[in-house]
Amino acid sequence: MNKNRTRVRFAPSPTGYLHVGGLRTALYNYLFAKQSGGDFILRIEDTDQNRYVEGAVENLIKTLKWVGLEYDEGPNKEGSVGPYFQSKRLDFYNKYANQLLEQGDAYRCFCTPERLSDLKEQQQKAKLPQAKYDKHCLNLSKEEIEKNIVDGISYVIRLNVKPGDSVIINDVVRERVEFSRDVIDDQVLIKTDGFPTYHMANVVDDHLMGITHVIRGEEWLSSTPKHILLYNAFGWKIPIFAHLPLLLNADRSKLSKRQGDVAVEDYKLKGYLKEALINFVALLGWSTSDNDEFFNMNDLIEKFSLERIHKAGAIFNVEKLDWINAEHLRKQDKNIILNMLKEILAESKYKDIEFTDEYLLLVIEGMIERVSFIKDYIDNSTYFFERPNVYDEEVISKRWKDDSVKLLENYAAKISGLNNPTKEDFEIALKQVAEEAECGAGRIIHPVRVATSGVGIGPGVYDLLFILGKDEVIARINKAIKIIPELKSKLG
Ligand code: GLU
Repeated sequence: MNKNRTRVRFAPSPTGYLHVGGLRTALYNYLFAKQSGGDFILRIEDTDQNRYVEGAVENLIKTLKWVGLEYDEGPNKEGSVGPYFQSKRLDFYNKYANQLLEQGDAYRCFCTPERLSDLKEQQQKAKLPQAKYDKHCLNLSKEEIEKNIVDGISYVIRLNVKPGDSVIINDVVRERVEFSRDVIDDQVLIKTDGFPTYHMANVVDDHLMGITHVIRGEEWLSSTPKHILLYNAFGWKIPIFAHLPLLLNADRSKLSKRQGDVAVEDYKLKGYLKEALINFVALLGWSTSDNDEFFNMNDLIEKFSLERIHKAGAIFNVEKLDWINAEHLRKQDKNIILNMLKEILAESKYKDIEFTDEYLLLVIEGMIERVSFIKDYIDNSTYFFERPNVYDEEVISKRWKDDSVKLLENYAAKISGLNNPTKEDFEIALKQVAEEAECGAGRIIHPVRVATSGVGIGPGVYDLLFILGKDEVIARINKAIKIIPELKSKLG
């Protein structure tokens, strides 16, 4: 391991899904690693046996892969400092916990859960600012400790927070943050089951894995003084810290499931593009000096900087995500959109209908300014996939006139003589029919649109006609002129 190389890590606890906040942490770490030619490591912090969720790690890896955050080292991609699952690294934690015991920087605590909860209660009654362990077991004699061990009394290993100066964190985002030792508890490092706590495992691994920068959510800032005490106790180099601002709902409360989706997968299922999600998440707490808002991954790698991370909480604004999604969709390679459209068509009621790629590409192009999501193609322009069965009543009331049938018949007759008409041919033909009937083009445009699409909005009418093609347009006109006049007379 090259000591000067930037090494960062994403260290999730596998609790079932990747939270959008986790995605942001992973992304910032990834961007920082890539722009400095460093390594991005995935470490699974799975030492809390009670929180084990079947399939969570696989799901997490799959989701990271989907968004394009490939790690350099991690599960199934062994580097020189594995394993990358904390549950497989227990020997390391025990070795280092023993070192702390020997140094007097940690001690065994045999207190029962009852004693601890009584203590907490007393401290709360006494209105102490923070419940803390009272170091009762720090004073046990060597003999008492040995006897307890022989008697099989279970114990934890605690950090011994010694009196001293405040602990200072020089955070890239939060700048200088100071914690008085009075508020730092003698944190449990190794639990009764022999498993480490987050603090112990996190510090040992960050050291052993050569992590140079710890980029993580602000909710971990209060743990950092404990980590610094551990680094100092071991005499290890302290990494650079950058704590990312909280993610907030629109009402500035902490981002929660109750107010919307928080799992990356949910956004995937809803049809958001991974490019859009990455772009949006990158802007949750970071911006460029010129406030650009449209980025792809390469732009982000180039432009990202820890120094431009905001301190203030970042509001998770779904409307902005939708806007970004539409922007990315517009810039997406049409063949990629084609594949996505085919995928959703295959799951739709149109699954048994054959559409050629050529046709679907025309639909994609024709609707591109009118969609924010791939599914909008199906939801907003069903007429490209089936003949209309209903016709918009409001449009009929307003736009269908006594001469509409005649004009459409004339138009159908006119285009039937054309050979593979282009968009322009459809237009010229329509204008000719209007001229012959001595009416404005609008008198035909509106009826022909509703006759062929069933609705009054959509792409430009000549685009619509061209995409549908001559035969289909004629068939739709013939169907509509049998149905709409009756509908019109009912509507009055
Ligand atoms: N396991 C912690 C989490 O679930 C990691 C926090 C850190 O990055 O130190 O987010």
